[in-house]
Parts: sequence; C-alpha cells; structure tokens
Amino acid sequence: MNTHVAQSNLGAIDAAHHLHPFTDMKKLNAAGTRIIQRAEGVHVFDNHGKRYLDAFAGLWCVNIGYGRKEIADAVYRQMNELPYYNTFFGTTTEPTILLAEKITAHAGPHLNHVFFAGSGSEANDTWFRMARVYWKALGHPTKTTVISRKNGYHGSTVAGASLGGMKWMHEQGNLPIPGIAHINQPYWYAEGGDLSPAEFGLKIARELEEKIDELGEENVAAFVAEPIQGAGGVIVPPETYWPEIARICKERNILLVADEVICGFGRLGSWFGHQHYGIEPDLCPVAKGLSSGYLPIGGVLVSDRVADVMINEVGDFFHGFTYSGHPVCAAAALENLRIIEEEKLVERVRDDIGPYFAKAWGSLADHDMVGETVSVGLMAGLQLAKDKKTRQRYAKPDDIGTMVRNVCVENGVILRATGDRMLASPPLTITEEDVDLMVSTLRKGLDKIWAEAKD
Ligand SMILES: *Cc1c(COP(=O)(O)O)cnc(C)c1O
Repeated sequence: MNTHVAQSNLGAIDAAHHLHPFTDMKKLNAAGTRIIQRAEGVHVFDNHGKRYLDAFAGLWCVNIGYGRKEIADAVYRQMNELPYYNTFFGTTTEPTILLAEKITAHAGPHLNHVFFAGSGSEANDTWFRMARVYWKALGHPTKTTVISRKNGYHGSTVAGASLGGMKWMHEQGNLPIPGIAHINQPYWYAEGGDLSPAEFGLKIARELEEKIDELGEENVAAFVAEPIQGAGGVIVPPETYWPEIARICKERNILLVADEVICGFGRLGSWFGHQHYGIEPDLCPVAKGLSSGYLPIGGVLVSDRVADVMINEVGDFFHGFTYSGHPVCAAAALENLRIIEEEKLVERVRDDIGPYFAKAWGSLADHDMVGETVSVGLMAGLQLAKDKKTRQRYAKPDDIGTMVRNVCVENGVILRATGDRMLASPPLTITEEDVDLMVSTLRKGLDKIWAEAKD
C-alpha cells in the first residue's frame, strides 16, 4: 500500500489533515501517530514492521481476529452482485434478511426483530426514539425520560453521549440533552466504601427505584446500562445488581435496555450479555462484534413486546439511516457470525480460553500495585492502587494508567487504560501462549511503573 508515498511522510500528512477522535491533537502531532499497516490473527503490524499482540481486539470489536479471507470473499461477492440498496420504502436485500434472522436466533427467545443502523451510537439513538414512540402509542405520552448511569458509555452522537455518563464528554457541547437522568454505577472498588460488594450492588440498583419515584413512574420510559461497563473501565457489577435492576424495571413498568455493543457476540462466553446475567431486556443496541469490525454495522434487537406495538400500533416509524441494513456490511456480518458458530467461539470462551484467561489475569492480583482483577469471558479489568490494603488510588489516575499502557505497547502488547484501570478484550481466538505473553508483559509494565511511582 501507499507505494507512491514515502512512509516517512505519512505521519506529517496525518498531522496536517486528519483530526482524530478522542485525541489531544497537539500532543499527538508532537509525539507522532502510530500507523497500523496490516494484521493477521491476533497481531497487528505498524508501518515499520513492528508486531503487536492486540489484546484489545481493535476497539473491543475484532472478535474473530484479523485476516479472515472468508469475510473478504463474502464482501467481494456481495460488492459485485449488489453493492448497495436501501431498506426504506418497502424494499430490502437478501443479506439483510438473513442477518436479521441469524442475530435473533442467538438472542433471548423474546427478541425476534432487528432494526439496523450503521454503528453503536446510531443504535442507541434508534432505541432512544423507539422507546418514546412505544409509550406514546400505548397512551403514555409523558413516559419519555431515560435513566442511565454515570460512567456508562453509549456512543458519541448527541443522544449517545447524553445517555453515557462521561462528564468530560457532557462538558463539550452542552450535554446531556433534556430527558435523561443519571444514577450511580456499581463500581464497588472505588465507591463501595465499607459495604460488601453484595450489599453495594443492591444499594446501587435501588437508586433506580429512588430515581423513578423522584421523576414519577409516569414520566420514565426506560433504563439503559451495559451488562458490564466497557469504556468506563470494565466495571463488573456485584452479583446482586442485575437481578434487582430487572425486578425494578418489571415492577415499575419501564423498558430495560441492555447495551450489548461490547458484551454481544461471544465476549462474555455467551452470545449476549443478557444471557450471562439471565435478564430479559426489551431492547438491545448491538454493533462491534456483530461484524468483528470488518465493516461498520449496528442495530437494535427489539423484543416482541416492543415490536408488536411498533408494527401494530405505531405504523410508520420516521427513523432510519441511508445505510440501515447495508447489504455489503450485512454480508460481512453474516460471514462473521457463521465463523463464530462454526468455530464454536462462544463455547470456547465459556469453557476453554475464558477460564484459562481468568486464571492468568487473576494471577496479577498478587502484585503490589494491583487493587483488584476482574474478568468475565474475555473482558477484563485491573485496578491500579497506590495502597491495595486501603483501596487508596493514585492522585492522577489518568497518568498512572497511561504510563502502564505505554510500557506494554512499547513491549509489543496493546492494552488499554481507562483512568487507573487496565483493560483487556482480546480476540476470542487468542491462544493460551498469547494470554501468557499478555499477562507477563503487563506484569513487567506494572513492575516498572511501580518502581518509578515510588520515587
Ligand atoms: C463502542 C460503544 C458504543 C458506540 O458504538 P460506535 O460504533 O462507536 O458508535 C455504544 N455502546 C457501547 C457499550 C460501546 O462500547
């Protein structure tokens, strides 16, 4: 690629013309960007030929690993046959039809419809409107407010960022929009105080009930949460949390929305996060692992309860995207799901590599700098702590996480840091040897920064 452009010039061109997402451009332009050129399996290679173990699967999405020729072939075939057609105004395409069928075959038995979108953010915008339309059609036009969580992540569009609970995102662009209320997250390590995790999980879940009382049940449309918060730091809720949330949503008659954008498609060792936690959400935005990132596609899984109203009461839902159900993206997603099925990757995560990973990741808990390790399937978080006995955290959490992350990347393993938590989310195809390499590289990074931070 780019044989006509000297490799040394690419960084300068990038700095001159490209504004990166979620990036301090001044700092990046000074440091220089990393250019990823090719990838194979669980590895990516930069334009200097340096190889990295991608323990983050791109951005939580390359579930089947890189370099799958079957997907390239499926996309090529579809491109030649029909590169684009829309799903508006009474038409659709074959891959779109088959994809809707295949996704719903793996979700909870009450989830039988899909509304397609181009990304996770669009999927969140979609259900946000749909939930309000649903209640209005049932004669409850005031049920419009959505309750979500501090430090949740639901994308970067206006609705997505508003639903999310990232304060620093809200501060840019006068968010959140009206009609969204945030409650606390089930982050026991940081916010649990003297309560046991089980007690804390119940307490935080019951904030939902308190918020519903405060707003008035007749004004609340839905509650949204990720089964496990991803971007917020892989916050695994205490076991008491989800059953209590499910109880409250049911008793108070508000829609339960599980944002499955990360947890869906095998990451937790189940097809979807709602299955792992045994809950029955009414709506599930999906994206990322749906196509393993090979092409952009997202959607919302819609339960029979909501679909019935959308189909029989609402009539026309004035919503959709030019690329809703894009045939080429759908073809890529179909092939991706076929591979997940054929290679039994969900079962592999549940029975085989997941338990192996849990043990390896958990072995880091003995490190002086590690407050806690958590993982479900192949989604993992590690809390950095200044004093692990008192759960004391570093004064500048972002800096300490970034320092550990940078050492790991230098040593050839891509992990992510969110504040003072280290996150891993490797392809579901990762081998035991690569899990060991990832963990030993992270341990080396912890050793180095622990020694430096003491001084
Ligand atoms: C990534 C993510 C989104 C947003 O998806 P995009 O495709 O980046 O728009 C939404 N929800 C969750 C839980 C995510 O992790």
